[in-house]
Amino acid sequence: MSALVDHRLVGVIGSPIAHSLSPILHRAAFASLGLTWQSQAFDIDESNIDAALVAMSTLAIAGLSVTMPLKQLVAQRVDVLSDVARDLDAVNCLTRLADGRLEGHNTDGAGFVDALQVAAPDSIRGRLVVVLGAGGAARAVIRAVAQAGAGEVVVINRTASSAATAALLAPNVGRVGVAADISTADLVVQATSAGMGSADQACDPSLLRAGQVVAELIYHPATTGFMAAASAAGCQVVGGLGMLVHQGVHAIERWTGMRPDPVAMELAGRRELSTR
Ligand code: NAP
Repeated sequence: MSALVDHRLVGVIGSPIAHSLSPILHRAAFASLGLTWQSQAFDIDESNIDAALVAMSTLAIAGLSVTMPLKQLVAQRVDVLSDVARDLDAVNCLTRLADGRLEGHNTDGAGFVDALQVAAPDSIRGRLVVVLGAGGAARAVIRAVAQAGAGEVVVINRTASSAATAALLAPNVGRVGVAADISTADLVVQATSAGMGSADQACDPSLLRAGQVVAELIYHPATTGFMAAASAAGCQVVGGLGMLVHQGVHAIERWTGMRPDPVAMELAGRRELSTR
């Protein structure tokens, strides 16, 4: 008699969701682990999130990645919230516990730190980190780089009040900055949505200096205008796909208890993006 094949299901929820890379990354992760788990994208918005969460528990869906516009809503609805998800008031990773309760966690910040560890080791601990932006992704990065030992975390945002709130996620080392801080940073993180489908830039690229590490969170397009300007200025440039991959690595680990191969996941992501 052949052994039962384990086709456990995970997925991603958000809206719009058709172009999400998450199922592709999840499938590459499962293949790297020799698992036959499945991953599916579900178009869920604010109007049907409650039904989706009940369905996750009832249908025993093992895990869900959570993307726009649901991260905050999910944080307010789960049974169990991790410390990081509570601090950020945002969930990007849902796990169904054995008793059916749903646990919300956030792997964005850990994904960012892991991606930098691969692409630009030594760019966080003891360094001056400038974060452009104060939205959900920026807040995850601010908290994570502070926890990873950044010497100073300077937040610059179009809306100053949000920058002040976000800087509190880096106790003792966080503050609100001004444009001139960009020129003295060791690491500049572009965490705004400027440049995603527009020519807007989060800061004047002439403020960048050769030798700085510049990390862009946007992963599509693969090279934003900001990344091109940073390269031209002599900076070491890191694109956003690594963060997406590594936040997914953390999610898969929580769901399966096993660490998938980030290289296989990144290759799958890169292959898919090259077709778009
Ligand atoms: P969000 O919560 O909506 O925050 C958007 C941020 O961008 C805010 O700080 C906003 O400033 C700023 N902003 C928007 N348009 C701007 C403009 N034209 N000029 C200057 N600042 C502008 O979005 P999010 O979830 O943080 O996502 C931000 C980016 O990160 C998106 O491009 C997203 O795709 C990317 N991301 C990547 C990953 C990854 O794994 N690589 C993960 C999450 C997010 P105000 O406060 O002034 O509105």
